[in-house]
Amino acid sequence: MENRTQERPHPPFPEQKQPEPGLESRLKPQPEFEAPLYKAAGKLEGRRALITGGDSGIGRAVAVLYAREGADVAIQFLPVERSDAEETRRAVEAAGRKCHLIEGDLSEEIFCVECVQQAVDLLGGLDILVSNAAHQMRKGRIEEITSEEWDRTFRVNVYAYFHLAKAAVHHMKPGSNIIATSSETALLGNKSLLDYASTKGAINAFTMSLAQMLLERGIRVNAVAPGPVWTPLNPSDEGASLEKVKSFGQDTPMKRPAQPEEIAPAYVFLASDADSSYITGIVLPELGGNTLM
Ligand code: NAD
Ligand code: MG
Repeated sequence: MENRTQERPHPPFPEQKQPEPGLESRLKPQPEFEAPLYKAAGKLEGRRALITGGDSGIGRAVAVLYAREGADVAIQFLPVERSDAEETRRAVEAAGRKCHLIEGDLSEEIFCVECVQQAVDLLGGLDILVSNAAHQMRKGRIEEITSEEWDRTFRVNVYAYFHLAKAAVHHMKPGSNIIATSSETALLGNKSLLDYASTKGAINAFTMSLAQMLLERGIRVNAVAPGPVWTPLNPSDEGASLEKVKSFGQDTPMKRPAQPEEIAPAYVFLASDADSSYITGIVLPELGGNTLM
């Protein structure tokens, strides 16, 4: 039996910094997203999924597992992330499924609506929305958070989730699913992520409320709350120190960050009626042993 709990990259990581949003291709070491131990079972056969921020990190790993489970996907990303998005497409196509690329900035309502419409047109319908893109910028003091920055974090992380869900529901039949990426910061707070953690708290309440609202329409709504994950998000956070990135995940009970492929199976579980037909409105924590909540 393989023990993949501890045989994973541990800090210290090489010193590195990238401009936001960061490219996965430049991360050292490369995140593990191909999930070689995962055994697919056709759980999402014929499904059509839109994954925001699907170019890299958790979104890429979800795209790959969805494809292996039989779904076609459309991934949204920012124009500067095109090379990462193409790498995701290569991995999805290697699993024998389609991967459509949708470029744009989710801080604008008009693009959120267009993004869903493009996904529907390209995929021929929509059964799963994974609202996963996020903006994060650490700040040590409340005075350093400008109104513009506060606004941007809420627009990308919360407003987009609302606009995307509203547009998506219009196309969804009973049996469809909405899944959001929350964060441990919503459960525990974080002194350096006041705005970001607040958006994640809003995502949790939105998820629980939308689940209740859509229950009778046969659409399940859930969220996943990961602890630290090895993705471009933190190395490209202008406010994260070189030391923070170097020691990333050190303070979890497992003393390491998750790899994206360890987080992604929860998104299959929550999208699959075979696994989770009685589950809606939950926030599923994946915290590397942290039981504080
Ligand atoms: P990531 O950088 O790979 O993914 C985030 C994506 O968000 C980017 O690829 C980008 O395409 C997208 N994005 C950012 N700003 C955008 C904008 N204005 N418009 C459109 N797209 C935009 O990092 P990740 O860690 O895989 O992040 C995925 C999700 O996981 C996020 O919601 C993040 O908050 C959450 N999360 C990450 C961690 C972690 O430690 N990495 C921990 C908990 C939760
Ligand atoms: Mg990216």
